[in-house]
Amino acid sequence: MRLVIDANILVAELLRVRGRALMTLPTLYLTIAGSIWDETEYELCKCIAHLTMRGTVLPDVAECLLESALLTVNDRLGQIPVAAYGTHESIARSRIPRDPDDWHTVALALDADFLGCGVATWTTDTLLAHLAYMEDGVVAKVMDRLDLTQRVLAHLTDEAVFAGIGNAGFDLFAAGDRSQNFYMFGSMGLASSLGLGYALARPDERVVVLEGEGSVLMNLGSLATIARMRPRRYLLVIMDNGTYALTGSQRNAAADVTDIAMIARGAGITRVATPQTAEEFERAVMDALSSDGPAVIVVKIADGNSAVRHGWDPVERKHCFAAGVAR
Ligand SMILES: [Mg+2]
Repeated sequence: MRLVIDANILVAELLRVRGRALMTLPTLYLTIAGSIWDETEYELCKCIAHLTMRGTVLPDVAECLLESALLTVNDRLGQIPVAAYGTHESIARSRIPRDPDDWHTVALALDADFLGCGVATWTTDTLLAHLAYMEDGVVAKVMDRLDLTQRVLAHLTDEAVFAGIGNAGFDLFAAGDRSQNFYMFGSMGLASSLGLGYALARPDERVVVLEGEGSVLMNLGSLATIARMRPRRYLLVIMDNGTYALTGSQRNAAADVTDIAMIARGAGITRVATPQTAEEFERAVMDALSSDGPAVIVVKIADGNSAVRHGWDPVERKHCFAAGVAR
């Protein structure tokens, strides 16, 4: 498995015994943008010097620590030249509008399989989650949240779209910042309920809700309410990566024992699809949007965070959305 890592995370992992041990796993091929290696090495030396100055590590231990870290890097880290990923510069910069000069890592991730992009929260736990997926053979089947979000938007015009907190909203923003997009702030799990209220108030409009499985687990009762109220043109898309990606990819129940599609069916929702490919997903979206009755699509996606943040103020966004759906 090839993963892209950025300077800050690499330094943090190199300073941890478990991080260095993970990097030696034969199933893992770590890569870093070659142009940021000098910065990484400088930060590594600076961190170790700081730990020594604070007395956290003894001077001779610090020397061993640096030696061990550099040995791991030399053995296990691929430094990729800019020529290999430079063609992605423009799109990489657009993914991180607040800090476009840090485009190298994003461009490299785009050149790879995009796993590990959004590395700001890529911790050792994230690596473990990825490796667990590899062991389960799931990684070959999972899809990319941004790609799926773009596929949903491609079939919409001016419909309201509600996105759950975190990555669901960030990738909706990345796919297209329409004024009809509502980005949930803080209220984990309530995007499906908010969308339901909208759908009941405007039964003739199509409404789409994009949620992560973590949010759905937080508010399972919403599925029963959706089934009971039967909004006519309501589609709930649940992107399931089995982790709380934004807080460090801690595995949740959906990765281990819980089948969310089965819960949706058990709640009384009859139209529940579980597409296995992006093409099947798109067909399920088209089917849901062209039929009556509430529909739920549960789709497995890769772990990892969106490469962008929308940065909207909640109140400003409320006004923007209200104007966007004014009829
Ligand atoms: Mg999740």
